[in-house]
Amino acid sequence: MYLFKLLPISIVLLIVLAPLHKLQAQDKTFTVIIDPGHGGKDTGTTGTKRYKDKNEKDIVLAVALEVEKIIKSEMPQTKVILTRKKDIFIELKKRGEIANKANADLFISIHANAATYKATGTETYVLGVHRNKTNLAVAKRENDVILLEEDYEKHYSYDPHSPASIISLTLMQEDYLDQSIRMATIVEKSFSEVGKRRTRGVKQAGFVVLHQTYMPSILIEIGFLSNEIEEDFLRKKTGQQKIAASIVDGIKKYKKELEKNSIKDSNSHASVNNNRIFKNVTFKVQIASSSNRVATKSYNFRGLQNIERVKVDKFYKYYLGRTSDYNLIKQLQVKAVEKGYKSAFIVAFRGEERLSVAKLLKSTPQ
Ligand SMILES: [Zn+2]
Repeated sequence: MYLFKLLPISIVLLIVLAPLHKLQAQDKTFTVIIDPGHGGKDTGTTGTKRYKDKNEKDIVLAVALEVEKIIKSEMPQTKVILTRKKDIFIELKKRGEIANKANADLFISIHANAATYKATGTETYVLGVHRNKTNLAVAKRENDVILLEEDYEKHYSYDPHSPASIISLTLMQEDYLDQSIRMATIVEKSFSEVGKRRTRGVKQAGFVVLHQTYMPSILIEIGFLSNEIEEDFLRKKTGQQKIAASIVDGIKKYKKELEKNSIKDSNSHASVNNNRIFKNVTFKVQIASSSNRVATKSYNFRGLQNIERVKVDKFYKYYLGRTSDYNLIKQLQVKAVEKGYKSAFIVAFRGEERLSVAKLLKSTPQ
């Protein structure tokens, strides 16, 4: 009896709350994932071998915990999640799963470098095709951990013995490449300006861990444990704090930039018309763009159907949907974003001609 009375009220509430919920989704809590590389049976690089007590896995965990501490005290509005807080082995795909499940805004994997030549400095990677042998060597070293995982052949479309297979890894992250490069650039600048470290800049290589995430993702090499001076610096708490402070400085600046851009975006969409059918205009949602030709099967696109592939110059563009109803395409865009294509955007065409969506929305639909 009581239930009977309550039921309609809850339905009404749902209807009222639904649009509110959508609005609030935009200013959801900014969530950053900090991923300390390696752990457990996977030590990472062992450095100069002058010390036996601390390897890459221990040093990057210490830095990650410092990052967490600083974010909690200086960025109370930001949620921070560590993929591991202890010395345990975690598979690469699990790290991505943690980030995707949290619907995070940023993924930062922290590692320490090693080289057979004399090298110093920090470098930050985004996923991509390696430009040279050195970048490939770094990626290969960090990817080799999957050999320690059980059944890795089943879980990854990557063959650690064939560097060429890295190329097929890049497609999904291309959606987020611009933002990943931006974050990588900001954090390298913070290393040099705030941390007074030597920066080796932003690089691209095929890291398996970066391929697992649906958000802007970077991998930081905080310095060379193969170099005695840097190894000593990174082993010390003060060194770890300096590195962590630079990373947090980068996160703050990146977040600020994002907030500025989203204000601009929402302004440009103001004063739109209610009638949203545009004759002779075809709207589509662009969900990816890549140099790889991928079959337009739904299993390649997280279950999304009606995917269209169009070759433009050297790139393949992947579109979802085709309609002259802006409201309908907007719904499809939301669906694509929910499926993980967070930067999916609407494009408009008249015949072959690409149109500006912003201009269309300001004009009166015919
Ligand atoms: Zn590593």
